[in-house]
Amino acid sequence: MKLIETDVLVIGAGPAGSSTAKHAALNGAEVILIDKKSEIGSPKRCAEGVSKEGLKKLGIEPNSRWVTKELSGVRLISPNGTDVWMKEDQVKLPEAGYILERKVFDKFMAMDAARAGAAIMIKTLARGMRKDYDGYIVSCESMGEDFEIKAKIVVGADGPESRVGRWGGLKTAVKPKNMESGIQFEMVGLEMEDPDVIEFYFGSVAPGGYAWIFPKGDDIANVGLGIVSTVTNKSAYEHLVEFVKNCPATQNAQPVELNVGGDPVGGMTKTLVKDNLMIVGDAAGHVNPLTGGGIITALEAGMYAGEVAAAAVKEDNYTEKRLKEYQEKCKKEIGDSFDKYLKTKDYLLSLSDSDLDSIAAAFQDTEFENISTKELIKLLIKVSPKALLKLGKLF
Ligand SMILES: Cc1cc2nc3c(=O)[nH]c(=O)nc-3n(C[C@H](O)[C@H](O)[C@H](O)COP(=O)(O)OP(=O)(O)OC[C@H]3O[C@@H](n4cnc5c(N)ncnc54)[C@H](O)[C@@H]3O)c2cc1C
Repeated sequence: MKLIETDVLVIGAGPAGSSTAKHAALNGAEVILIDKKSEIGSPKRCAEGVSKEGLKKLGIEPNSRWVTKELSGVRLISPNGTDVWMKEDQVKLPEAGYILERKVFDKFMAMDAARAGAAIMIKTLARGMRKDYDGYIVSCESMGEDFEIKAKIVVGADGPESRVGRWGGLKTAVKPKNMESGIQFEMVGLEMEDPDVIEFYFGSVAPGGYAWIFPKGDDIANVGLGIVSTVTNKSAYEHLVEFVKNCPATQNAQPVELNVGGDPVGGMTKTLVKDNLMIVGDAAGHVNPLTGGGIITALEAGMYAGEVAAAAVKEDNYTEKRLKEYQEKCKKEIGDSFDKYLKTKDYLLSLSDSDLDSIAAAFQDTEFENISTKELIKLLIKVSPKALLKLGKLF
């Protein structure tokens, strides 16, 4: 059987894989990036929101080919319809700045990896892998042809249903209570109060998560929700249909696309590396547990993974001990804040619809000035004594 050899094989060309491939190649490694899809980025499984700050931090210039909407603020809606408006200059929230066109964005990220020197193989499925004395041999299939790729380092960037980590013996299983079921319509004919503002709906409308309307054009938006199946008897689809039926903005809207996907919101996986193996992005739990957003963290973790992989290649050292530098960097830059977000999410999910209504009413009377997620939580503590008990020591 045909055998291709490389330094680094990245499995999955989402934001995590493309970023890993780009940074490994930029730092001198020979890289192959494979994806089972025939079109990178499609179909999307995402509401497509990213923070401006996140892109800036990674040095990614916004491009009019993949930014569909620049947002001016956020609207938070409690179960009885009480809403809290925050303007962009008042609030710095994750996943709230630009709405992307993922189908174009993901391709652009892969193109950046190619320009950095990575070889891209589309419609190439990784089927399994076996350990060799100095790396892994991955069985692949593309257009009916079976072949193998031998790599000194394999990077599992294969998304929420990741199998690569498990193939290599990492514990990547996500408990059902930590896997949100996301479902979304892209819709046309929306009548939003302000089509430049993203909307979040809280409470029993989406048990275990929240519902969202992320505008992509004047009357176009991603309308979706995430639920945790262990806390509701209805399916995510039933909740979505009910939401669309009751939400004033969607009364005359029509779906043009249905997106379904899992979102691992339980925090970062503990162990991200083994000898010759790394995991990154959704495959490694790099998803903000509070918001469910994972694009920026996938890109960021990919950058660290690529840099460490390339350094390991230069040193000819692929041991778990060497690759741990990546795990430690992720813990410091991503994982530690996730622990706080996880506790905040647990607190928010413990609130009843009427608790949420009274918090929204208290927020409505508050003057906001330059508020970050952290300050928002501090405000929550101020208006809700229960929050003080649960979150007081965190921030
Ligand atoms: C409904 C929903 C809404 C969301 N909204 C947002 C949002 O607004 N903002 C945000 O930041 N995040 C959002 N997220 C999360 C975000 O989509 C993910 O965190 C992000 O896509 C993670 O990137 P990734 O590269 O790790 O994985 P993915 O983007 O899932 O990419 C994994 C890639 O691996 C490929 N692959 C898998 N297995 C194999 C294999 N065996 N062989 C070859 N290729 C393989 C897949 O084809 C895929 O292209 C949302 C998620 C869901 C489900």
